[in-house]
Amino acid sequence: MPFKQQLFVPNKREYITGLSRPSVDCIICSIISDEPSVKNLTIWKNETVAACVNLYPYNAGHLLLFPLRHIDDPRQLSHEEHKQMHQLLSASMDRLESVYHPLGFNIGFNIGEASGASIEHLHQHVVPRYHRELGFVDITAGAKIIIEDPQVTLNKLKDAFADLKF
Ligand SMILES: [Zn+2]
Repeated sequence: MPFKQQLFVPNKREYITGLSRPSVDCIICSIISDEPSVKNLTIWKNETVAACVNLYPYNAGHLLLFPLRHIDDPRQLSHEEHKQMHQLLSASMDRLESVYHPLGFNIGFNIGEASGASIEHLHQHVVPRYHRELGFVDITAGAKIIIEDPQVTLNKLKDAFADLKF
């Protein structure tokens, strides 16, 4: 798409450059251990894997799925972690479909600095895609705007995940 800037998220630049990034070794590990300095948007977790709302969403319902173990490459996933990441992906897609009714998804890992990854801890992005995503600002300013506050997403999805067990 011909956006001059695919993503405009206020404060994200400061976050990437470290100006406002919480001073913890790993944001995801801090979310897992419920560090008070890190905003915790966890929707669901078990002993092996977890899902949280992305604090800087590309779209409403943008989730991050990750193993609790700190690894930085999907090839390091154990068989069990791999299986559970897949179960969590399926469960997340089902729930996003029933809550948000997207027309599609972008799903994937960003690995390494050159991929645009800003968190080292392995995480899978699940980004729901919608019909008519472009708004007036998108077209006139060449930038995308945040569609929904991540806290609102969290509240909507927590209920939808309440019955999930594995
Ligand atoms: Zn970590």
